Amino acid sequence: MIECIVIKAIRACNLRCDYCYYINDETQEYGRVIADGTVERLYETLSRHARGRPVELVWHGGEPLMLGPERFERLLSMQRAHFDEGAVANKVQTNGSLVDAAWIEFFRRHAISVGVSLDGLREAHDRHRRKANGRGSFFEAMRAIRLLRNGGIEVGVLAVVDGSGSGAETMRFLNRLGVGSVEFLLPISNHALRDAGKAQALDFAGIGRFLREAYLQWLDLDAPRVPVDLFEALVLNAFGRPNDYAYTGPSLDALSNYVILETDGTICLDEEYGQLDRYGIAAQYGLGCNVHDDGFSFDLASDRLRGLIAERGLARLPDDCADCRVRTICRASHPGTRYSDAGRTFNRKSVYCNEMFDLADVVLTTIGLAGMADRVKDPGLGKRAARAASMVPEVPSGPSAR
Ligand code: SF4
Repeated sequence: MIECIVIKAIRACNLRCDYCYYINDETQEYGRVIADGTVERLYETLSRHARGRPVELVWHGGEPLMLGPERFERLLSMQRAHFDEGAVANKVQTNGSLVDAAWIEFFRRHAISVGVSLDGLREAHDRHRRKANGRGSFFEAMRAIRLLRNGGIEVGVLAVVDGSGSGAETMRFLNRLGVGSVEFLLPISNHALRDAGKAQALDFAGIGRFLREAYLQWLDLDAPRVPVDLFEALVLNAFGRPNDYAYTGPSLDALSNYVILETDGTICLDEEYGQLDRYGIAAQYGLGCNVHDDGFSFDLASDRLRGLIAERGLARLPDDCADCRVRTICRASHPGTRYSDAGRTFNRKSVYCNEMFDLADVVLTTIGLAGMADRVKDPGLGKRAARAASMVPEVPSGPSAR
C-alpha cells in the first residue's frame, strides 16, 4: 500500500542551492503551482486507497511556503471532506527562510511537523544554500529552527553532506540545536552521472571521512542524543534488524510505500532512482499515470510501483555486493546510487561504495564490542560499544556481518 505522498507543491524556490536537482533558473515551467483540483483528486483517490488507514503527506517543493498561508489553509481544509480527523499526518519540508510567527501559528493549528534544510555549520551551509543575491541562508535557517522550537513545533533537520569541515564538530552543533531528528543526505549521484563527469565536483573521500567522524562523535554524545537516521539504521542492520531507511538498502515494502506527486498530478518514483536530467524533470521516473487520468487509482499506481521496483531490482542486493564483508550493514546503500547507464541497470555497487564500506566497517568495529563493553580496556571504546548496543532493545549475540 502507498502510505506516503511527497507533494511537489510548487516548482519554484527563493533560494538557489547549487546542488538542487529540482529548481534552477532554467527549470521547465518554473513557477508552476499545484492546482486545487489536483490536490482534490489526490485526496479523493488516496482516501479510497487508504480505506481508513493513516497516511502521510509531505509538502515539498521548491519551497512549499511560497504557496502562502491562505492557499495552504485552503488545501488543508479540503482534507476534511475526505479523511477522518487525525488520519492525515501533514509534514512540511522547508528551507526556513519564510518561517515567521504566522506560519508557526499555522503549523501549530494543523499539528504539522516541519523539516528544515540546514547543512550543518555555517560555512558548509552557506557554500551551497544561497539566496538569489549570492548570500548564504544560514541565519534564516537557524532563525526558523529557533522559532519552530519556541513555538512547540516538532522539527527535524535535513543536512546534505558535502565532505567539508569536521564531522565531529558538525555533529555536536546539530545535537545542540535541540531538534527531534537529524538526517544526513548524500548528494544525489550514481554511476551514470559520475561517468558523464557530472559528479566530479563531489568530494567522495571527504564525505566518507565526515560521516565516520560524525558517527563516532554521535556515539560519544551524552543523553539526550539527537536521533540520526543513517547511523541508527546502520547499527540496526549490523544487529541483524534490517530496517527501511532509504540509504541502507530499503526493502520492497519500504520502497513501494511512497511516491512523488508532481505539480501537474504525475505520479513518480523517487527522483533519485533514475539518471537525473536536471532540465527534463520527471521524464525518467514517471510511473505512467496521473491523478487526473480516467480510472486512476492508487491501487493501480501501487501495482505499477511494485512492478517497476521488481523489474529494476531496486530492492535486492546487487550481484557486485554478494561477497562484500559489510553487505548486511550497508545493503548497497540507496538504490538510486547504484544506477549505471551501461546496461541501464541498478545491479551495481553504490557509487558511494568506498564511503559506505568504511562507515559500515567503523559501525561493525564499535558494535563488535557490544556485550563486553565493561571489559574493553579503552574507556572511550567501551562507552561507544555500550551506547551502540543500547539502541537495540534486545541485543542479539553479535553483529550480523561476516
Ligand atoms: S560497501 Fe559497497 S560492495 Fe559492500 S554492500 Fe555497500 S555498496 Fe555493496
